[in-house]
Parts: sequence; C-alpha cells; structure tokens
Amino acid sequence: MRRLSLLLTILAGPLAAQGTPPASPPSPPILIKAGRLVDGRSAQVQTNVGILIDGERIRAVGPLASVQAQAPNARVIDLSQMTVLPGFIDAHTHLLLQGDITNQEYEDQLLKESIPYRAILGARNARIALEHGFTTLRDVETEGAMYADVDVKLAVNRGEVPGSRVFASTRAMAPTGMYPIGTPNWEIELPHGVQTVDGVDNARLAVREQVQHGADWIKYYSDRRYFFTPDSVLHSWVNFTDEEARAIVDETHRLGRKAAAHAIGSDGIAAALRAGVNSIEHGDGLTDSLMDVMVRNNVYWVPTVTVGVHVMPRGGVWPALVALERRAFGRALRKGVKIALGTDVGGFPWTEINQAKEFEYYVQYGMTPMQAIQSGTSVAAALLGQEQNLGAVAPGLYADLVAVSGDPLRDITELQRVKFVMKGGTVYLSQ
Ligand SMILES: [Zn+2]
Repeated sequence: MRRLSLLLTILAGPLAAQGTPPASPPSPPILIKAGRLVDGRSAQVQTNVGILIDGERIRAVGPLASVQAQAPNARVIDLSQMTVLPGFIDAHTHLLLQGDITNQEYEDQLLKESIPYRAILGARNARIALEHGFTTLRDVETEGAMYADVDVKLAVNRGEVPGSRVFASTRAMAPTGMYPIGTPNWEIELPHGVQTVDGVDNARLAVREQVQHGADWIKYYSDRRYFFTPDSVLHSWVNFTDEEARAIVDETHRLGRKAAAHAIGSDGIAAALRAGVNSIEHGDGLTDSLMDVMVRNNVYWVPTVTVGVHVMPRGGVWPALVALERRAFGRALRKGVKIALGTDVGGFPWTEINQAKEFEYYVQYGMTPMQAIQSGTSVAAALLGQEQNLGAVAPGLYADLVAVSGDPLRDITELQRVKFVMKGGTVYLSQ
C-alpha cells in the first residue's frame, strides 16, 4: 500500500489522464541525463548520455550536450549518478500462480481460489515485476485461470493498473491425463492447469480458440516424468504425438503467433524441435546435438534457473536437474545458442524472490554481466519479435528504462536494486 501511494504521487499527472489507450495527451519531451548507459545491444558502456523522450518513445540518444540542444525546454530527469539500462524482459512468467513447490500448494490455488481472486493477485504481480524493473513479461500460461492473463494485460494497457507489458499465452495445452490436477477418484472432474488437447483437429481448434481470446503466444507441454539413464542423459516421457505437436505449431505460425514448449528431458526437447517451436522452456536435458539443432533453426532457450533452485526441496530428480542445467548452460554459451532470460516466477512466490536474481545465476553459470543483461533485454526482445519496440535504449523504441546506483558490470546483483523505472515514457519508480 505504501509503495502504491508513492507510485500514485509520482504518476499524478499521466495516470490521472489515462483510462484510454496509449495515444497519450501531448506532454513536453523528457531529457534523461544518464551518467552511464548500457544500451542493451552494444558491448560498450557510454558515459554522459542524453536520452530524449517524446511521449511513449525515445527520440534521440547521444552525447548529453548535443541531445540537450535538440530540446532545450525538455523536462529533465537527472540520473547522472546512475547506470541506465533498457527495461528488463522476463520471458517466462506465470502471473496467475503464486508459488507451487508442492502439489498441495498448486491444488489449493486451482481448487480454493476463484479466477477473479487469482486475477487480482495477477495484477498485483504485474506491478511487482514493473517495480523490479521488468517492463515486459512473456507470460506462459495461466495454470487453470483460463484467459485471465489477457485481462491483466488489458487493464495494464488501458492504464487502469500499473504493470509490465504482457505477452500472453492464455491456457497452454497437454493431452488427456498428462497435466495436473489428477485424482484416483474417477467420479469427480477436477480443473486442469491447461487446456486438454487430443488429436490434430483438436490441436488446431485449441490454437484458434486461444488466439481468438487474445493469445500472443501458444505454449504446450512437450514432456513429463524425467529420469536419467546410466550415461547421465536426462530422458522424459513425451506428451503429444509428433502429428499433434506439429499441428499445434503449424496452426500457431499460420495465425502469426509463436510457439513455446515446456521441455525438460532430451526426448521432450527433441520432440519440440521436430515440431518447429520457437523456444525451449527449461531445457535442463539439452544435449550437444540438440543445441546444434537450436542454433541451426534459430530456436531460443529460456533456462528458468531461479525456479529450478527454488524447487530443489521437492527432492527426487530435481536437485540433479539444476546441476545438469548448469553444465548445459556453459556448453550452450560456447555453441552460440540464443539464451533469453526467463525465471518461471509464479513457480516461486512473486512476493519473496526478485526475478532479477536470474541475471546473477547466468553470470555464475558463465555469462559476462553484459551478456546476462543482453539476455534479459535485446535477446529476449528478439525472441518476442519486438526488436523495433523493446529491449534496447535506441531512437524509435519505447522509453522503457531502468536505473541502478552501482555498476552492474562489476556486481550483477545491482539489478536486484533498481532505483528508477520508466515504461512508455511514464515514471513508475524513482527513489
Ligand atoms: Zn513455467
């Protein structure tokens, strides 16, 4: 509540005037004085930079004096003691989930909370993400909350609530009996965390329904039941037949959307790559040959390390998955697999762990801080097909910016302490 009132004070002008979509009222340009700029694309840090913002978008970026000369009457925001970066992008979130280490925690949410209640928490989560500097989320399914991610997105876009930009996946898909909630009691039908899909016609129909109701992405579960063979390869049971998976992905692409597959074991990853997906989610069991296919076919990897570490108390195969993924990460880096930052927040509580922890793991796993930053900005924007709008500080793009007081290239954990957040030219946090 305290944070919200601070926010409303900051927003006083712009938010009060909103309620209509982005075509915002004319306001004077904003000049940001950036002490240091990490622009999301260049490997170089620039100093004493001016960023000129007109409405929602960046008009100019360059040496402070020359940019200032372009708009002498601009309103100045002084970040000359800070490092400015593009707004972060988390490519794997669940706005409608509040953490589920155990089956019980998952079932309680689907059985004992209404979808409206869950959507209210989803709106809160979008604000938490924004205040942590994540100006964009690719939300990869609602876990039984139907199309409520689209509702959160609408409310944010209309200025009704503060929150990140949302790319929504709606319900996700798995075949009958291959996704919770399951029960031995066949007399009752329980809700499922996904849309149940069997057969190629049903697959195409499900994609059409989800797109009709606002899906920007289509997500499906490629595998389950993970196990190691003595050669240390992680295997899994594949959910869809190749024909079904191809139907999902083909229909997705035919409708101008992209497909993401949950795939943890090597069998599930291989099946998803055969189907032609755009991103592999989790991907713990990636082998060298699967990585080669990803590089060849321009498939992105979204590792979600934070959730892996968080769910280790589940025991079983989970702790070994974290170690396996760490080794895969180093190999993927060397092979040039495109790694887009994603956390699986919602699988861990939004209120307890800052999503920016993921940057820290990537550096621990072998990225330079600059590579990690690009993973969560320009690379993720490319995964989304939004290079012209998001993921960098450059003319023409949305004015989505964060600032930190320290040097994130020396200490990546600085990204967990953002002091300033702007989205679309509006300031949401300023400390
Ligand atoms: Zn997930």
